[in-house]
Amino acid sequence: MEPTQQAPATSNISVRRGEPLVVIDHVDKHYGDLHVLNDINTVVNRGEVVVVIGPSGSGKSTLCRAINRLETIDSGTITIDGERLPEEGAALAKLRADVGMVFQSFNLFAHKTVLENITLAPIRVKRISRKEADAKAMELLERVGVANQAKKMPAQLSGGQQQRVAIARSLAMNPKLILMDEPTSALDPEMINEVLDVMIGLAEQGMTMIVVTHEMGFARKAANRVLFMDGGRIVEEATPADFFDHPQSDRAKDFLSKIL
Ligand code: ADP
Ligand code: MG
Repeated sequence: MEPTQQAPATSNISVRRGEPLVVIDHVDKHYGDLHVLNDINTVVNRGEVVVVIGPSGSGKSTLCRAINRLETIDSGTITIDGERLPEEGAALAKLRADVGMVFQSFNLFAHKTVLENITLAPIRVKRISRKEADAKAMELLERVGVANQAKKMPAQLSGGQQQRVAIARSLAMNPKLILMDEPTSALDPEMINEVLDVMIGLAEQGMTMIVVTHEMGFARKAANRVLFMDGGRIVEEATPADFFDHPQSDRAKDFLSKIL
């Protein structure tokens, strides 16, 4: 077990590494005949960064969406911080607040300023004052390096800037966990690193993260663990060094030979 680590005083993230935060137990899901999640079992501890990789269609996005309850599951259980995922209602809204999600396509509100994108949920859901929400949003924008864009509309920003705003927006709810589904896949190459740097910073500060990405540099630098998925199953689970240097299965070897 890794040592307990205290987040910096200015951070909104409280860190206690080592205890299970997300427990995924015998999870199955079908889309008609397709067994999209096939007996998924894994535990993500607090402060851990888990990278999920695998071929297109292997179920990575479905797994992320199931953890955030954007998708239902057929059987098995997913628990977050000791609580089983709620079906609906206020408990589900609370879960969504606790689990940040960053998508490939940024998903910012196009008709709100950058600042409003960040303050909307804290004001509506957490019912904090606009003044407090603005101050915190500016702090977060500072942290992801786009504070000078606060008054602009999302379309006026580059893709990399927009994705950093999306990350700041998810942080504004003080999530226990952030899920990122291919957060750099839609970016031009020169913008990928500015987003990866923000993600690495979050990892260093102890944020618990589940990140679907094929960015091996990020995985090697920031991940505690890699999950390799294929055909709806977790086929391998290993440290990044073991996975990339010594993949065990033919499927992982084949996949890596195509992307490396
Ligand atoms: P990945 O993110 O690894 O590329 P996905 O989780 O998006 O994979 O999809 C896994 C499989 O499930 C794919 O074959 C996809 O076509 C299928 N799928 C995803 N969403 C749906 C849906 N809403 N209805 C039917 N099939 C779906
Ligand atoms: Mg996907």
